[in-house]
Amino acid sequence: MKVKTLTDLEIDLNQETLDNLKLRLQGQVLLSGDTGYEQSRTVWNGMIDKKPALVVRCLGIVDVITCVQFAREHNLLLCIKGGGHNIAGLATAEGAMMLDMSLMHGVWVDTKRRIAHAQVGCLLGDVDRETQLHGLAAVLGFVSRTGITGLTTGGGFGYLTRRWGWTSDNVVGMDLVTADGQLVRASEEENEDLFWGLRGGGGNFGVVTGIDYALYPVGPEIVGGLVAWPASEASGVLDLYRTLIEKAPPELTLVVLMRPAPPAPWLPKDMHGKPIIAMLACYSGNPAQGEKAVAPIKSFGKPIGDILIRRPYVQLQSLLDSTQPNGRRYYWKSEYLPDIKPALCEKVIEHAAKIPSPHSAMILFQLKGALNSLKDDHSAVGNRDSRYVVNIAGSWEQAGDDAVNVEWAREAWADTRQFSTGGTYINFLTEDEGPDRVEAALSSGIQRLAEIKAKWDPENVFRTNRNIKPV
Ligand SMILES: Cc1cc2nc3c(=O)[nH]c(=O)nc-3n(C[C@H](O)[C@H](O)[C@H](O)COP(=O)(O)OP(=O)(O)OC[C@H]3O[C@@H](n4cnc5c(N)ncnc54)[C@H](O)[C@@H]3O)c2cc1C
Repeated sequence: MKVKTLTDLEIDLNQETLDNLKLRLQGQVLLSGDTGYEQSRTVWNGMIDKKPALVVRCLGIVDVITCVQFAREHNLLLCIKGGGHNIAGLATAEGAMMLDMSLMHGVWVDTKRRIAHAQVGCLLGDVDRETQLHGLAAVLGFVSRTGITGLTTGGGFGYLTRRWGWTSDNVVGMDLVTADGQLVRASEEENEDLFWGLRGGGGNFGVVTGIDYALYPVGPEIVGGLVAWPASEASGVLDLYRTLIEKAPPELTLVVLMRPAPPAPWLPKDMHGKPIIAMLACYSGNPAQGEKAVAPIKSFGKPIGDILIRRPYVQLQSLLDSTQPNGRRYYWKSEYLPDIKPALCEKVIEHAAKIPSPHSAMILFQLKGALNSLKDDHSAVGNRDSRYVVNIAGSWEQAGDDAVNVEWAREAWADTRQFSTGGTYINFLTEDEGPDRVEAALSSGIQRLAEIKAKWDPENVFRTNRNIKPV
C-alpha cells in the first residue's frame, strides 16, 4: 500500500508492517474498500474529496500515542479528524495516515468544580447534552454537529460568547500527545506556552486528546429561536438590529440572516425559496427577562414566521443543524467587524438579493462583550477588537454550479471587506485562502506561535492544519 511521507514522497507499507500496527492498537485500521472507510474519509464540505491511505479509528490515548510513534517511525504524513467540519477540509489529506477521533466522544461533568472533561471526537451536541443535565453549559458554537476540537483550538464563538468570551477563553486545560509521542498537559500551571498556543493556534502542536471546559449556569430553559420577514422588510429589520445590539445585555445574542426561505414547516409554503430576512436570538439568562428582551423583535412589522419562544437550550443548539447537512458544497468568505454600519447593511441587502442558490446566506453574528475586555495577547486567538462577524455562506448541491456560487461569495466579500477590523476567523477560511489570510487571522501572535511550534514540533509533523512553520 502506498502512503505519503512528510517529504511528499510515496512509500510502500507492506502487509506485515500493517499487521504489526493493528496488533498495537485497540481501534480499527481501515483501508479503501473497508466498511467505514468512506464515512471516515469524507468531511462536511462536499467540495473536498481526498483519500487518506489508511484510517485509524482511535479508541483511546494509547492508540493516539501508538499512531504518532508509527507515523514517526515511517515518516508518514498525518491528518487528524475531529468533527470533520472544517470548511477547508483540513481533517483529511490525500495519501496520509488519518487519525479519526470520532469514537472518542465521552464527556464527564464535575458539577462541584463546574468543569466538563470532553474527549476530542465530541460534537458540540455531545457536550451540551451532558452539561445541560446539570443546568450547566460550555461556551460552544451554533450548530450541534460541529466538532469541538477544531472549533476550540481555533477560537470558537456561539450564543454564550458575549457573556464569557471565545470558547478558547473558557478552556481550563487540554491533554495532548506531542510529536515525540509523549502525553502532556497544557494549562495555566503546566506548559503554559503550549496552553497559550493551543487556544487559537489550531492543531499545530500535537494531537489533543481531551479538553476541560469551564461551565456556567444556563437554562435548561432559555428564550431562543427565529423570527422571519420578507426580504422587502430588510432595511427596517436591519435598523432594528442596529438599535437592539447597541443596548443588548450580554445575555442576549442576536444574529441576522438573509437568504432564500428554506422549506421549514414554520414558514408559509408560498414563501419557500423566496428571499427573507430572519433574526436569530438567544437570551441565555432568566426566561421571563428574556421574553421582555426579545419583545421588540416579535412585534416588529409583519413577520411571516415566529419560533422565538421559551425552549430547552439543547433544542436551540440544534435548530440550525438541518440547514448545514454533511456533503453539500460550501464556500465561505468572512471578516471580523468593529461595528455594523448602515453602509454595510446596504451591501448585505444588495448581495443577498443576488444569491444564486436556495441554500446560501449572508449572516451577521454578534460577539461584542467579554472577549473584548481581555488583552490581545491573552492567548493566540487574539482579535479582541472584533465585535461582529460577517459570513458570506455559499451552499449548493451540484459541482456544475461551483463557479457561479464561488463567484457570488467572492463578489460579496470584495464589497464588504472595507468594513472589516482587518482580522478574520481562522476556522472560517476556505481551502483557497493562503498564508496572508492566516496572518490576518492570527496577526501579531504568529511569531510567538512559530517559537512554540519550534519547541514542541520542530520537524512540523503536525502540518495538515493552518500550518505555523517552526522557527
Ligand atoms: C455548519 C458549521 C457551523 C459552524 N458554526 C460555528 C460556530 O458557531 N462557531 C464557531 O466558532 N465555529 C463554527 N464553525 C467552524 C468550526 O469551528 C470549524 O469548522 C472547526 O474546524 C470544526 O471543528 P472540527 O473538530 O469539526 O474540525 P475538523 O474538520 O475535524 O478539523 C479541523 C482542524 O483541526 C485539527 N484537529 C481536529 N482534531 C484534532 C485533535 N484532536 N488534535 C489536534 N488537531 C485536531 C485537524 O487536523 C484540522 O486541522 C462551524 C462550521 C460548520 C461547518
